[in-house]
Amino acid sequence: MSIQEMAQEVGYNQSYLQENENAHYRAYHLKNFKTMPHIDRLTGEQIFAIEVVGRVLPFRTNNYVTDELIHWDDIPNDPFFVLNFPQRDMLKPTHFNKMASLLISGGGPRRINRLANIIRYELSPHPAGQLKDNRPRLHGEVLPGVQHKYHETVLFFPSQGQTCHAFCTFCFRWAQFVGIEDLKIAMKEASLLVEYLQEHPEVTDVLFTGGDPLIMKTHVLAPYINALLDADLPHLQNIRIGSKALSYWPYRFLTDADADDLLALFEKVNLSGRHLALMAHFSHYRELQTEAARQAISRVQQTGTVIRAQSPVLNHINADPAIWARMWKEQVRLGVIPYYMFVPRDTGAQHYFSVPLEKAWNIFRQAYRQVSGLSRTVRGPVMSCHPGKVQILGTTKVRDEKIFVLRAIQSRKPEFVHRPFFAKYDPEAIWYTDLKPAFDEDRFFFE
Ligand SMILES: *Cc1c(COP(=O)(O)O)cnc(C)c1O
Repeated sequence: MSIQEMAQEVGYNQSYLQENENAHYRAYHLKNFKTMPHIDRLTGEQIFAIEVVGRVLPFRTNNYVTDELIHWDDIPNDPFFVLNFPQRDMLKPTHFNKMASLLISGGGPRRINRLANIIRYELSPHPAGQLKDNRPRLHGEVLPGVQHKYHETVLFFPSQGQTCHAFCTFCFRWAQFVGIEDLKIAMKEASLLVEYLQEHPEVTDVLFTGGDPLIMKTHVLAPYINALLDADLPHLQNIRIGSKALSYWPYRFLTDADADDLLALFEKVNLSGRHLALMAHFSHYRELQTEAARQAISRVQQTGTVIRAQSPVLNHINADPAIWARMWKEQVRLGVIPYYMFVPRDTGAQHYFSVPLEKAWNIFRQAYRQVSGLSRTVRGPVMSCHPGKVQILGTTKVRDEKIFVLRAIQSRKPEFVHRPFFAKYDPEAIWYTDLKPAFDEDRFFFE
């Protein structure tokens, strides 16, 4: 088969790329969103809400999201509108009203920023002990851009990757983007990462995260990856990249000037005998349906890279088993492996996006029962919380007590993994910290 035939076989169409050669990235954020072509679709109230909420939580979208993902006839309910554009209720009324009054009274930038920071610190900017507990040391010094919570996997935050092509309004890493340096996790020194890994033979996986590491130009990303490939690290098996680029800027893999270099870098990792995993975030099946996203998925896969998909279950976006079942089916059809369904974390606009844990579990199981085993690689619903990645296995009754059954899929202590434990049933619980041990125990077994 010729390359052209192969390309056709996978639906990879050269003329599409040529026609879109100039797919040109345009970011919209607080300062310029009123210049976007769709601005007349927004009401004055919606624009004001963006101004207010966008002063506190980071706001950024781009022309791919506004032109190809958002259905403007369906706003304000369109999931991608809610996923990128700040909505009034994403701040609690007291916070919203304070910032709104300050803006209306013409508060200057310093006062606005001071109030924004006060509110930000009230929104639990770094949940689950990220700034305290997961920070590894090398030669007695804290490594500023590394987290190491679970034995096998080290998270690495390259400095230049600490932004995204667009910001999800639910993002639990929002504090990376608001310009408070004390809150930022980042580092540039790949050599320190390598040294750390050499001292930790238990580590099999390095996960590049952010932000979005694929915001980096290939020539910026490549030295980090090459440092790992070239070092003496026999225990390093997998390099993972957490990225939303397939959903928010698929042209990263198609028409960006260095797209081919990026794919060549991916291929190089896979040819080196290591596995490259692209940890993609898809929150809705519509992200998989644009021509650009499909071409991008196919190009990434041609490098031998495996794409795995995860997302939280989100009120206003995907809190519906039909959406999940369709998304998992679509992923498997495209060769993407369903990986995690998360519960939105206890930070930022959690109150806006969260659903009760029982509802999350019902969404999960009603979707799960509709799909074949190839989609049932997904685990959920999972809370990434202080003790680990805790899965809600369901509710049940033991003797006369209604309980939640849970287990840790990941834990700081490997011996705690996959041991079921029980919490009192609480129909309103939305997070691990809302749960109390069942059967009148005074603590969970791992506490
Ligand atoms: C989720 C997570 C990982 C990766 O866990 P996997 O189950 O291997 O995907 C690693 N470190 C931290 C801190 C995490 O939250």
